[in-house]
Amino acid sequence: MTTEPPPAAPAPEPISPVQAAALRDRVLPPVEEVRPGIWTLAVPFRSGVVDATLVYVVEGTDGSLAVIDPGWSADGDLDALDGALAAVGRSVDEVSLVAVTHLHADHLGAAAAIRRRTGARVAMHGLEVEGLRRERSDAAANDADVATWGLPGHLRAGVVAAWGSGRRIGLGSAEEPFADLLLADADELPIPGRSIRTLWTPGHTAGHVCFVDEVDGLLFTGDHVLPRINSGIGLGGRTVTNPLGDYLASLALLEPYADLEVCPGHEYRFRDVVSRARVLARHREERSRHVAAALDALDRPTVYEVAARVPFSGGIGSMTGFLLASAVTQTAFHVDLLGRSDEIRPA
Ligand SMILES: [Zn+2]
Repeated sequence: MTTEPPPAAPAPEPISPVQAAALRDRVLPPVEEVRPGIWTLAVPFRSGVVDATLVYVVEGTDGSLAVIDPGWSADGDLDALDGALAAVGRSVDEVSLVAVTHLHADHLGAAAAIRRRTGARVAMHGLEVEGLRRERSDAAANDADVATWGLPGHLRAGVVAAWGSGRRIGLGSAEEPFADLLLADADELPIPGRSIRTLWTPGHTAGHVCFVDEVDGLLFTGDHVLPRINSGIGLGGRTVTNPLGDYLASLALLEPYADLEVCPGHEYRFRDVVSRARVLARHREERSRHVAAALDALDRPTVYEVAARVPFSGGIGSMTGFLLASAVTQTAFHVDLLGRSDEIRPA
């Protein structure tokens, strides 16, 4: 799940012309073999700026299949995934591992249905399971936060509905959050004959991970780094640490992987993750400068009054619901990272 249109910097060139054309034409790209025994395919997801999730399928030397981010599923149906795998002569029935970059429904959504059908193990970072378990208590605490932001009255109900009570961030069902395998930084995925390592990259969500395959030269980035979209931050439940600080540190973690082909969770594959990460970091630095200028200019503002002076794409005046909540919380992360939270007046 992402929240912002692209920042004003040239997007990296796509590696795959068919993925780029599909994105332009707003259709699903076909299955492609990225490396021998590693395919990418797309499943539909309709939410804001994101139309499809890129799913990666990795074959082990025993013939079993692992899926990285199975994508969204409507009511547990796996037709989109089934159809795409059938195109390369494979089937969801062969999937024995589902590895998930983060808890959002457009990445994790189909995991439960695959697990039910094939008994596949589901692997994700422990903080994501915790985030899913805390969804309800987080929502109540978020309601209390929203009341302090100083939002114009007519926008409050929409924000509470999208951000606080009633919001669903994860599986989007009554299903109990689960994982069969809790991933920590540097853990290898159990895929026979492959060497794919977990890289913990908190920021977008607290337990977001990338997967590094140095043998095949691939870096699976989930929503940590996308070619055109500027990923939202702190969208996986409440955290003790500042998600913006976490995100900037996680961008820096990508420095050793400049040579790997980037396999993101949306849009298209591209090269040079380091340049892209630097663009994203610069965008945040620029935003910090705007937040600092707003704090300098205003006397004891509410966080909404600060956010109103930050040049979010389209302007905060055009935002409602989830987008508005994300803009305000990101402003609060910047204020906190500047060490100036005591200058904010709770409404
Ligand atoms: Zn996503």
